[in-house]
Amino acid sequence: MIASAPSNPRARAALALPLAALLFACTTAGAGGVTAGVPVATAMPSSAAVAAADPSAAVLEVRSGPPASDPYRAAVAQAFKQGKDVKDGKNADYIPALAKVDAHLYGIALVTASGAIYEIGNSRSEFSIQSVSKPFTLARLIEAVGLDSVRKRIGANATGQKFNSILAVELNQSQKRPPPGNPLVNAGAIATVDMIPAKNATEKWDVISGLYNAFAGRQLSLNQEVYRSESETNAHNRAIVALLQDYEVVKGDPAEALDLYTRQCSVNVSARDLAIMGATLANGGRNPVTGQTVVSPATASQVLAVMATAGLYETTGDWLVTTGVPAKSGVGGGIVAVLPGRYAIGTFAPPLDDAGNSVRGQKAIEAIVQALGGGVFSSRASARGTTAQVSTPGAPVAAAAAQKGN
Ligand code: GLN
Repeated sequence: MIASAPSNPRARAALALPLAALLFACTTAGAGGVTAGVPVATAMPSSAAVAAADPSAAVLEVRSGPPASDPYRAAVAQAFKQGKDVKDGKNADYIPALAKVDAHLYGIALVTASGAIYEIGNSRSEFSIQSVSKPFTLARLIEAVGLDSVRKRIGANATGQKFNSILAVELNQSQKRPPPGNPLVNAGAIATVDMIPAKNATEKWDVISGLYNAFAGRQLSLNQEVYRSESETNAHNRAIVALLQDYEVVKGDPAEALDLYTRQCSVNVSARDLAIMGATLANGGRNPVTGQTVVSPATASQVLAVMATAGLYETTGDWLVTTGVPAKSGVGGGIVAVLPGRYAIGTFAPPLDDAGNSVRGQKAIEAIVQALGGGVFSSRASARGTTAQVSTPGAPVAAAAAQKGN
């Protein structure tokens, strides 16, 4: 596993304590890579099997047990191991290029809101971002036009239907709700792209791709094979955009909106990139690794709320009650999960469940979040509550609370 520190001085300064823990982790694990007091990419020994599956995994695999002093490191290593036992799911195949991706690839990265990075497995293997792109384009749109305009034209409620459901669009339209339902289903994401203000398609692409680069803190590339493959086979999305044009949701050129949407879904990312992009949302819109402000804290919060509502499509409620974290999945096998103010996790494992969410990714994230104290709804009795309970000796807690009119 790699543990590394942010390169910008401000984020580094904020890391005084975690840094000490990282140094301990690196040295305890017997790995090198510590330069001038700052841990850099740290090579770990690896098994031949993982190296054969992906040569880049050779430097990333953890073999020794993690030291208990670094909870992040321990949580990531343990979750990775647990995820390895999960064999369910199947690559997406309605986009032919996705069916060809090696189903054994598996990587996790965790990035804290102060910019420390933990990685394991194929955390640097690139894959198409697919629907994990949607919350980031949404962030740009909210910055440009405000949340109210987005809610009015696209909506912010779960559809309860598949991510490419035409039925959901029709139901919403017939019940006088914004037809797409929310910005994280295909209809809403295509409408999001249509609504981004720009002079022409080239400028719009520059805005979207430039934003992704800022979120990731590096120049991302386009997966030409996936872009071509999806462009040739996206008849279903063409039907959605035609419907949205008819309902006056998409007001520009529908072919252009769909092409830009398909392109944004074809951007290559790694689990590490997703974790940094998520950590930027966790950190009030400021990339904790580069120090760049990408969006405002208010925008980041609004995007996270939409992710909590609809990030895993029709299984978002199940996801939220089991993990308690806003997240977004993509049919390329990626998931980003965000603990506001704390950390974000990026995972990559291509086999998907019936809703289109990575099976291993979900398991791994659930395990990490649990190990690190639970999700955003974690609730614990306060010290004051404890005092009230002990002040009613012998009475059951619930009865005591009822008596006091609580
Ligand atoms: N590009 C894919 C599509 O439009 C994205 C779907 C997804 O990741 N859920 O179908």
